[in-house]
Amino acid sequence: MTDRPQYRSDSQRRAIQRLALSFVALVIVAILLMGLWQSWKSYNLIISEAESNSANLARSAAQHAEDAIKELESFSAGMVERLEGYGLANIEKERMRRLFKNQATIMTQIHGVFVYDKDGNWIVTDKDAIPANANNSDREYFIYHKVNGNDRSMHIGPVIKSRSTGDLVIPVSRRINNPDGSFAGVFLATIRVDYFTKFYEGFRLDKQGIFVIALRDGTVLARRPFDEKVIGTSLAKGQIYTKHLPYAPSGTAHITSIVDKVERINSYKQLDRYPIVVQAGLSKRAMLEPWYQDVYRTAIIISIVILAMLAFGIILIRQIRFGFVIEKELTQAHAALEQMALQDGLTGLANRRQLDAVLPVEISRAKRTKTPLGLIMLDIDYFKRYNDLYGHPAGDQCIKAVSEAVKGAIRRAGDLAARYGGEEITVLLPGADEVGTYKVAEQISAAVRKLSIRHEGSDTGYVTLSAGIYTYVPETMDMTADSLVKAADEALYLAKEWGRNRVHPSICVL
Ligand code: GH3
Ligand code: MG
Ligand code: MG
Repeated sequence: MTDRPQYRSDSQRRAIQRLALSFVALVIVAILLMGLWQSWKSYNLIISEAESNSANLARSAAQHAEDAIKELESFSAGMVERLEGYGLANIEKERMRRLFKNQATIMTQIHGVFVYDKDGNWIVTDKDAIPANANNSDREYFIYHKVNGNDRSMHIGPVIKSRSTGDLVIPVSRRINNPDGSFAGVFLATIRVDYFTKFYEGFRLDKQGIFVIALRDGTVLARRPFDEKVIGTSLAKGQIYTKHLPYAPSGTAHITSIVDKVERINSYKQLDRYPIVVQAGLSKRAMLEPWYQDVYRTAIIISIVILAMLAFGIILIRQIRFGFVIEKELTQAHAALEQMALQDGLTGLANRRQLDAVLPVEISRAKRTKTPLGLIMLDIDYFKRYNDLYGHPAGDQCIKAVSEAVKGAIRRAGDLAARYGGEEITVLLPGADEVGTYKVAEQISAAVRKLSIRHEGSDTGYVTLSAGIYTYVPETMDMTADSLVKAADEALYLAKEWGRNRVHPSICVL
């Protein structure tokens, strides 16, 4: 016997399709996750680099400011001590002017050096000439020192426009006392605002990068990019002054500017000695620009790969389905072929091939189990005449009807009715002894007679059968399939000889 091909069940097919789909989905999800993870990682890297850059910038700007102011603190302390020692009325103005001018040349941050008397009149300055009737008693720093007798420290005021040159300057001043402690005047050094802006411009920043130096109360002293309108305005309501500075003297925060609405990575640092805060901000958008381009490129590549995977998935699933359809058709074709190979097309009985295959198996089983095996050979009487009288198609119908009657008469599992050829039918009855076989043959003949198929060419007027039977009893002799059929066939011959429409046992004594 040949091996039957192993075809898959519907649930196995569905499982394979699900597996293929899951594989494609898994690959797509993995590609997506990898892309997202990579982008997330490089985003974090850029942000953390930008954070340290802005912190370094803030630190550098703070150091620069601190150094510049510290120089003035030291210079002004020495000068005030000297002025107080001489008394303002006694100073050598020209010598003082030269000293101031010399200091202003050394300390490039200095815009001007001034000494005012108690009424705000200019006593001495580093400038070559004192403007007529020059008086600074209205200035914030002058009023401050006049009022605050106990504050001998340096005072840093908001930006003002110089009366001598028109430049924007930051006033750094100290009170000068008379020996009795009363107010004698003010020593003032001014720092050029552009001393800071020029320094800040030396850094390579993105277009929207900023530097801001402001008083601790938020009043802007200088800014890069320079904008005169912003100088003197207050940042007190900004996030750094409200949320961060009160808690830490330096730090980094992502802030949307209240001045230009740009989101920046902002680092700030308050100077150690002075009420001044420096900020450096890098535009988040500019920092992330290369990242956006990278993400855009990656997204395009990932989309193409995913589309290709989807196309591959669709083709794969289609191919699998197509394979299953073919497989199903093959299964059906195989079953049909199997049926065709073993069954007679007209009658639905087993065909000669099946009989030839089964007969030797049944014989050896009979031998093995020592049980009898009955064989009936049936032949329709005067069938040639039937064909001649009613035509070949009617003959076919008659064979079919007779076959149905045969099928109806054999009911035991294992019994086999086969179309031996033409209008001859063989019935195999495993386990049936002679009496049993005879009985079945009689039942078949009776069933056919009962059909009452009209047959003018027969003596009876109806279709009848002749049957030869042979019962093989294995204990008595050894027989082959051929000899068994031959014996039954001889019995059939005798049934014909004896007048047809009868059952005749074999007289074979081999
Ligand atoms: P007998 O009583 O001696 O059996 O007479 P008979 O005419 O039946 O003789 P025989 O068995 O020799 O004739 C068989 C005839 O059956 C020959 C053929 O015309 C016819 N036949 C064989 N196979 C088929 C078939 O498949 N269909 C039809 N319609 N007729 C067939
Ligand atoms: Mg015949
Ligand atoms: Mg016949």
